Amino acid sequence: MSAVIESAAVRSTEVELLARVPDQLYIDGQWVNGTGDLIVVTDPATGRVLKQIQNASVADGTRALDAAARAASSWAATPARIRAEILRRAFDLLQERRDDFATLMTLEMGKPIAEANSEVSYGGEFLRWFSEEAVRISGRYGPTPEGTGTMVVTQRPVGPCYLITPWNFPLAMATRKIAPALAAGCTVVVKPAELTPLTTLLFVQLLEDAGVPAGVVNVITTNQSQAVSAPIIADPRLRKLSFTGSTVVGRALIAQAAQNVLRTSMELGGNAPFVVFADADLEKAVTGAMIAKFRNTGQACTAANRFIVHASVAEEFGRRLTARVNELVPGPGIDPTVNFGPLVTDAAVDNIESLVQDALAHGATLLTGGTRPEGPGSFYTPTVLANVSADSRMVREEIFGPVVGIRTFETDEEAIEMSNDTEYGLIGYVFTTDIARGHRMIDSIDTGMMGLNTGLVSNAAAPFGGVKQSGLGREGGLEGIHEYLSTKYTLIPAV
Ligand code: NAD
Repeated sequence: MSAVIESAAVRSTEVELLARVPDQLYIDGQWVNGTGDLIVVTDPATGRVLKQIQNASVADGTRALDAAARAASSWAATPARIRAEILRRAFDLLQERRDDFATLMTLEMGKPIAEANSEVSYGGEFLRWFSEEAVRISGRYGPTPEGTGTMVVTQRPVGPCYLITPWNFPLAMATRKIAPALAAGCTVVVKPAELTPLTTLLFVQLLEDAGVPAGVVNVITTNQSQAVSAPIIADPRLRKLSFTGSTVVGRALIAQAAQNVLRTSMELGGNAPFVVFADADLEKAVTGAMIAKFRNTGQACTAANRFIVHASVAEEFGRRLTARVNELVPGPGIDPTVNFGPLVTDAAVDNIESLVQDALAHGATLLTGGTRPEGPGSFYTPTVLANVSADSRMVREEIFGPVVGIRTFETDEEAIEMSNDTEYGLIGYVFTTDIARGHRMIDSIDTGMMGLNTGLVSNAAAPFGGVKQSGLGREGGLEGIHEYLSTKYTLIPAV
């Protein structure tokens, strides 16, 4: 009986929260209707409709860019201290409202509530970090080597930016772009993913409360991403495109951006190697694997995708990992006892199912999982496969789901070769107790980021990004603000 009362109470809180989430576009400081059909946002854990929101048309996209272009010079001229204080207020407001954001992310995206809370912390740190960086934008000043004059190097905001975010980290991917852009003095148009737009709408309301002036941040929600984005990207007033999402869409956007030689930041897909050496602390490796693979139900660009384990410990690693995987508690993430949520859509489950079937057809051994539970919700059981063959699709493709595929190696050179045998280069994980070997791997694995004896590296103070087809540019860290700044050099001849 008390459980019934409790769940009814949770439900009414959710209903009240959903009612407070804006359902309109945010353009030039006004909440406005779109001109298209509504977008229906659903809960992937239950399939129920959460909310219907406005759908931007091509004209709405242009209006949002108009507003960002109009506000650009006054925001660039706003003292850095004021920009910093607005971002800091946004950080503080986010702490006050953290339960709303965590609950909303769990509802629209499916991640367990504890993970949603961690994302509020992580996402919030970009506001705090870039509020601190806003006042440290500096330049250089010095004589020419010939003594003929003075060289002055300054940093200017790039101008209006278009920010496109994915569904898997609805808050953090937005703050990771909006905070450095605003800190640098740029105005923005933000387009969240159509599957999880509610978090961004609630966040822009928070930015309004924090004092962000009209036109500085504009949000368009649309299920016509390509049609609405193309004219914005082609518009000569736009100066920067920042995208986080799949490599296939990233490539298409780079091609569009080339027409106006637009500056771009691209945070794209990954195919992370997770290398376990014979000398590794296996408990640490298993704990790292649980985080690197099962956080967000495997739906992270940083997710471990290829488990490359020394042949002498592969069986033991598989056995211990399987035991831990079997302890996961699946269900709707809003229940705090659940630590394994759904995939984002049924189509995502179809993809995982076909990747697992393909690996089994190529000779893999199923250690656990491999099934699709009855609905409701887009669930797939957490899965561990051993003896995955090199020609399985999951070795080449980003799995983006809760599936471990173990392969084995004998020599360090083989581990390096297997790790680098991919067009991606976002992150690699290495587990070894030999420091020298660890350093060798850091130098040899061709990625933008590495985790040494850990399954989680993200930090607002660190430069996040990839090499090869995992992207261009870095977000966070000292580097993050430079994605939104242009270097200007002036020569003042000696008189
Ligand atoms: P996606 O590429 O399908 O979509 C990303 C965003 O782009 C969404 O907002 C979508 O609406 C929009 N979009 C799609 N097609 C578009 C087009 N033609 N023009 C303009 N916008 C378009 O990716 P997703 O499924 O939302 O996210 C998952 C992918 O994102 C994975 O590949 C993952 O690795 C990647 N990702 C990368 C990082 C990183 O920092 N490297 C972080 C998170 C996710």
